[in-house]
Amino acid sequence: MTRKTYTEPARDIPVLMETDIVVVGGGTTGPFAAIAAARQGKRVVMIERFGSLGGNLTLGLNTKPSGALVGGLPLEIWNLARTAGGAGADYMALTKTGGVKIASPCDPEIMKILLTRLCVEAGVQILFETVASSPIVDGSAVTGVVIESKSGRQAILAKVVVDCSADADMAAQAGAPFVMGSGGTEQTMQPVSMYFTMTKVDLKRLADWARASDDIPARAIPDTVEGLEYGLWLTGFNKSLQKFQAESGIKLQRDNITLKTANGIMYINGTRVLGVDIFSPQEFSAAIVECYRQIEGVAKFLRERVPGFEESGIGQIAPALGVRETRHVLGEYTLSGTDALGGVGFDDSIAADASALDIHDPKGGDVDFQGMRPYEIPYRCLVPQKVEQLLVAGRAISADHTAHARSRNMPACMATGQAAGIAAAIAIDQGVTVRRVDVARVQAALRKLDMPLHASEVRDVQSPMAEPQPA
Ligand SMILES: Cc1cc2nc3c(=O)[nH]c(=O)nc-3n(C[C@H](O)[C@H](O)[C@H](O)COP(=O)(O)OP(=O)(O)OC[C@H]3O[C@@H](n4cnc5c(N)ncnc54)[C@H](O)[C@@H]3O)c2cc1C
Repeated sequence: MTRKTYTEPARDIPVLMETDIVVVGGGTTGPFAAIAAARQGKRVVMIERFGSLGGNLTLGLNTKPSGALVGGLPLEIWNLARTAGGAGADYMALTKTGGVKIASPCDPEIMKILLTRLCVEAGVQILFETVASSPIVDGSAVTGVVIESKSGRQAILAKVVVDCSADADMAAQAGAPFVMGSGGTEQTMQPVSMYFTMTKVDLKRLADWARASDDIPARAIPDTVEGLEYGLWLTGFNKSLQKFQAESGIKLQRDNITLKTANGIMYINGTRVLGVDIFSPQEFSAAIVECYRQIEGVAKFLRERVPGFEESGIGQIAPALGVRETRHVLGEYTLSGTDALGGVGFDDSIAADASALDIHDPKGGDVDFQGMRPYEIPYRCLVPQKVEQLLVAGRAISADHTAHARSRNMPACMATGQAAGIAAAIAIDQGVTVRRVDVARVQAALRKLDMPLHASEVRDVQSPMAEPQPA
């Protein structure tokens, strides 16, 4: 197929700022990188294309880290959220492999405020509604980014860029090698979904029904009415969804759906679109249109078939489509499924992570969500091959498709953000490239934040019990 092209005229663009570190993306990961680096005394600019922080955590209405927050900034921020009434108590959720400790969901609006406040207090310059459109590359080193805002195109020069865009936008354009999804010729990726909320749900009635139901295999159902505000988590409805589809003629795309509460509001993960090329504006947009269709269907199912939803309606639809998997940058080391599932130890570990394994079948089967023993993430997974002065944190780190099913979870994303911010700052202090940074110094700084680095240091995040209990 021949494609028309348009040659952009070359032109000079203004340099808006010169700084130490640019963080691209102020989502789940970026603020952790930015705060960590700024607290090390560095000048940090964080670029976010939307008008608030938190990405999939807040704008995506995701709210719940699928695992315990075991230390460092993530735990600090969650504890602040609890104090502000923006998160509840952690809980043990029942999965097919036993109990897994889950950090309480957060109230996304309170979390947006908290993340912004902590960034500002640390001295981070946030640029909202600004897109980082390309890296500036000198030889093999990234030396800044080109941004697009209402002022048009401008440049920001930096000593280190931390790519927290989730899709490795900067890394890919700078020439770092990557694979899409599972890689290989098939390149399958986990599907996209769009969260929504429902209003006026009778949580007690729903919890009482769910407790007695045989259609909710994975769950956490608190005993108290207060506990229901943040701690109700239900995954299943497989049989009733099948029956609803057969009787109503409405075709939904998932075998199961997940409901969870945050601040008394019901968040629903019930849509799915397979095989979307999110880099195609047309396919991306078509996926949103399809999610809207499914949201109407799932809301109807809940209202008509699930006790507690009788009076409810759609509250909010996530303003951002939830993307689970795209590029995995190829780093100095690629975390494998064997590493992540087997809890393999690494000398250069920058985080022990206790996230669950969470695979949504790229071909459309059921969701595989399992509690697992903690594992370790090596620093080398954040360091892309071939490109200097660039770190990648969050969903796009160097991990294979199976390892990514753990490392894409928010506890891991936040932890890699934190480590990247600290490593960037220490490399600048040492006058070395981020590839050559003294990892022992990075680890020592992480230890000062009470971040466990090895799996053996993380306890009480799993339980072999048959029934969920409050943690
Ligand atoms: C539907 C769904 C359900 C999930 N459920 C869970 C769950 O229950 N628990 C869990 O732990 N994990 C869950 N995950 C996974 C987890 O939410 C994500 O993997 C994680 O939030 C990704 O963090 P991130 O910072 O890499 O990306 P994001 O949170 O997406 O942040 C990326 C940020 O970068 C910004 N950005 C991107 N490109 C640019 C650019 N070029 N210029 C400027 N800004 C840019 C975006 O606007 C965004 O704010 C789920 C994911 C999805 C999609």
